[in-house]
Amino acid sequence: MQNIKHDLVVIGGGPAGLAAAISARRNGCRDVLLIERAKTYGGILNQCIHDGFGLHRFGETLTGPEYAQLYIDEFKAQRLEAMLGTIVLSMDSGRNLYVSSRNGFKKIEAGAVILSMGCRERTAGAISLPGTRPAGIYTAGAAQNFINLQNIMVGKQAVIMGSGDIGLIMARRMTLEGAKVESVFEILPYASGLPRNIQQCLNDYDIPLHLSTSVINLHGKERLTGVTVAEVNEGLMPVPGTERYVPCDTLLLSVGLIPENELSRGANVVMESRTGGAQVDDTLMTSLPGVFSCGNVLHVHDLVDHVSEEAELAGRFAVEYLDGGIQPRESYIQIEPGEGVRYVLPQKVSGARDFTLSLRVAAPSRNQSVWVKDSEKKLARKKMLRLHPAEMVRIKVKANKLGSAKRLCVSVK
Ligand SMILES: Cc1cc2nc3c(=O)[nH]c(=O)nc-3n(C[C@H](O)[C@H](O)[C@H](O)COP(=O)(O)OP(=O)(O)OC[C@H]3O[C@@H](n4cnc5c(N)ncnc54)[C@H](O)[C@@H]3O)c2cc1C
Repeated sequence: MQNIKHDLVVIGGGPAGLAAAISARRNGCRDVLLIERAKTYGGILNQCIHDGFGLHRFGETLTGPEYAQLYIDEFKAQRLEAMLGTIVLSMDSGRNLYVSSRNGFKKIEAGAVILSMGCRERTAGAISLPGTRPAGIYTAGAAQNFINLQNIMVGKQAVIMGSGDIGLIMARRMTLEGAKVESVFEILPYASGLPRNIQQCLNDYDIPLHLSTSVINLHGKERLTGVTVAEVNEGLMPVPGTERYVPCDTLLLSVGLIPENELSRGANVVMESRTGGAQVDDTLMTSLPGVFSCGNVLHVHDLVDHVSEEAELAGRFAVEYLDGGIQPRESYIQIEPGEGVRYVLPQKVSGARDFTLSLRVAAPSRNQSVWVKDSEKKLARKKMLRLHPAEMVRIKVKANKLGSAKRLCVSVK
C-alpha cells in the first residue's frame, strides 16, 4: 500500500469541501489535497437545477450547478490538488486516512483534516414505512437525480410524504414534467421546508399540503397503486376513522437528512445526538485535535450560502492549527440549547475570540427573541419577527462579554 503525506486533507468535494480548500489556500496553506468519491466536484448541487442559490453570498439567484461552478473555477484557478473518483474508506484518530481509487489503496497521513462529506436522505427502511415494497417508492433526492441528471421520469401520479425542502422542490419539478402531484402529507402540525418553497413550489402550482397527516400504508404488488393516509394526534399516532385512500403510482419521501458521519464515528470523534454531526468548538475543531467539520456533515443547513461561509472558517482555522496557533484546551465554556431551541452549535467555545452560534428553534413562533445568557446575565439578543424550524438562526457573541462564564444557554422568549 502506498503511503503519502499531506498538510491538509479535505474529505468531500461538495460546496463545503471546495470552499474549505479554497479558504485554506488563501490563508497560506500550500499543501492541500481534496478527496471526492464522485468523478466530478460540486456534490449534491449538481442535481439541484432549480434556482435560489447564492442570494446571500453573491446577491443573485443561481442554480445549484451555477453556484458550484463559481467555486470549482476558483478551486482550479488556485491550482489546488484533488483526487476524484477516490473514496476515503476509514480514518483513525491519528489523522491517518485509508483511501481507495482506481490506482489502488493508499494510506494518507494528514497534518489536519476537514470533514465535509455532506448528508444523505432518510429512506423507507429508516422510517419503518409500513406496507408492501412495490416499485415507485423513491427518496425525493433519488427522484431528483433520475429526472435532472439521467433524464428518466419516475412516475405520472405522485404523493409526497414529508414537507422537507427537497420534497417541495420535487413536487414542482414533477408537475413541470407533466406528472400530477396529488398532495404533500406532513406528519407535523407545520411544514418542515422553507416558507419560500411552500409558496413557490406548492401554492403557485395548487398542490395541497396536509399537515398533521401521514402515510400509514402502501398498496400495490409490482408497482405502487396507492397509499392510505390518516390524520395524526398530538402523539403523532393515526386517528382512527380518518383513513383515506389516495391513488398514485409514485411516492416520494422527504422525511429528513442524515449527516454522513461513518468516517467520524470510526475515528471516535465525539458526536452530538441533536444534530447527527460532530461536537465542535468555536474553531469548528472536533474532539480530535486537527480534525475539523463543516457543511451538512456537521449539521443540516437551510441554505448552501451558510455552508460555504462555515467551510471558509474551517479552512482558515485548519491552517491556524497547522501553524501552531490553535491547540485543544483543558476547559471550554459549554453552550446548551434552552427553552424553544432544538440545537445550537458550536457546543463549546474557548472565549478567546468572537463567535457566531447557529441554531434551529423547536417550533414556529412570531415576535420572539433569541437570547444567549450566562445564568441570568444576558450576553446577546436577536429580535425575530418570525422563527421557524426550517430556517437556521445565527447570532453573534462578543468574546469581551463572556467574563467568567462557564456555561451559556440559548433560548427563545
Ligand atoms: C438529495 C439532496 C437534494 C438537495 N437539494 C437541495 C436544494 O434543492 N436546495 C438546497 O438549498 N439544498 C439542497 N440540498 C442541501 C445541499 O446538500 C446543501 O446545501 C449542500 O450541498 C451541502 O454541501 P456539502 O458540501 O456539505 O455536502 P454535499 O453537497 O452533499 O457534498 C458532500 C460530498 O462529499 C463526498 N463524500 C462523502 N463521503 C465521502 C468519502 N468517504 N470519500 C470521498 N468523498 C466523500 C460526496 O460524494 C459529496 O460530493 C440537498 C441535499 C440533498 C441530500
